[in-house]
Amino acid sequence: MTTEFFSAAPLAVATVADTLAKLRSVPALADRYADIVALDSLEDLVHVPVMRKDDLNVALEHLKPKAQHGATWTFQSGGSTGSPKLGYAPTGLYMAEVYEQWKPLGPDDLFVNAWGAGKLWGAHYLMGAYADLTGCTGIGLGAINRGEYDAWLEFFADRGVTSIGGTPSVLRPIIGRARELGLKLPDLRSVLWLGEAWNPGLDEDLPAVAPRARRWGLFGSTETWVAGTNTPQCADDTWHPLPSQLVHIGADQLIDFTSLKPHGLNPVLRYQTGDAGEWVTCTCGVPGRALRVLGRRDGEVKFRGLLLNADALLREVAGVPGVSQSQLVLTEYPARGSTCEVLVVPARDAADGLAARVRDRILGSAFGGPSSAFHRDPEALEVRVTDALIHNERTGKVSPLVQRRAT
Ligand SMILES: [Zn+2]
Repeated sequence: MTTEFFSAAPLAVATVADTLAKLRSVPALADRYADIVALDSLEDLVHVPVMRKDDLNVALEHLKPKAQHGATWTFQSGGSTGSPKLGYAPTGLYMAEVYEQWKPLGPDDLFVNAWGAGKLWGAHYLMGAYADLTGCTGIGLGAINRGEYDAWLEFFADRGVTSIGGTPSVLRPIIGRARELGLKLPDLRSVLWLGEAWNPGLDEDLPAVAPRARRWGLFGSTETWVAGTNTPQCADDTWHPLPSQLVHIGADQLIDFTSLKPHGLNPVLRYQTGDAGEWVTCTCGVPGRALRVLGRRDGEVKFRGLLLNADALLREVAGVPGVSQSQLVLTEYPARGSTCEVLVVPARDAADGLAARVRDRILGSAFGGPSSAFHRDPEALEVRVTDALIHNERTGKVSPLVQRRAT
């Protein structure tokens, strides 16, 4: 286990001590920070308890931070129940630092911002703030539905769009439709993405539609804001942290983030997003350590009394040839118990009988308890081939695990 905390950021210790003082001023959190006498160096962070989303929401509810200059923007900061919880960011959305490190866009670019706008989601505005710094020409597209794809794709081709950004599962059907139409976007050079893992389906369609296009990713969360960047030369799960992010990998490989932004608004102090990670040397050749994100560690759910690891099951499914994407849907029925449905989006070259092969792989796999539940009750498992996975209407994001109750 790595315990070291280090950073070359100026004022790092003062910033962290300031965040600790803020958290301590929150009555509901005072106890958990009471034992930390002083933070004399970043190494002392090893004594600071990690915080999760609920802790941060409690803190923000009390602190209601305000930016030093300009507007303070609020965004939805998780919270699985009730009314939206708010995270905060100053005008500019901290994107100057991102621009220092990550330059997919320049003044000659014509950039389509295809992240959905509004409804407290930050991505559209974040990329708008980024575009401001690059001097590019922007097109605010937002969310469009399938009936609108053809007209917009023609517009992109006519205008010579050079860049498009969006959630990968939103971009996939748009680029897939272009391929179906035989439409080319020869000027498209960069595909900007954030919000979920890269979608390998795009690697199938982009070469046919836009052979020059390469992916450029941002990694982070509403709480930490942008934590890392990558380029086409990096693996799609590997990130170069920003200088203002103190990234630490603790027990169980769980990543925690500490903000080193002077005047940062969210009091992010050893904040765990639930992602696990490891330090690697990136294939792109940039020196120093890069963060490889290994997926979530909280993917365990109860299924018919047994613990089912959604990530492990989906990894198994991803290993079946012809599977492009998959998703686990657990539905609880009052009378007959839970059912497990595996949705599979086929790759373009998938052979017939994919659902049966996926089912055989799950039943034959050694990932433990749940497969025995399926053997006892084969009807508890259903594999369904589909065009699209279930997604969040607001953000277009696809969660690997969907849980619902039958009504
Ligand atoms: Zn790299």
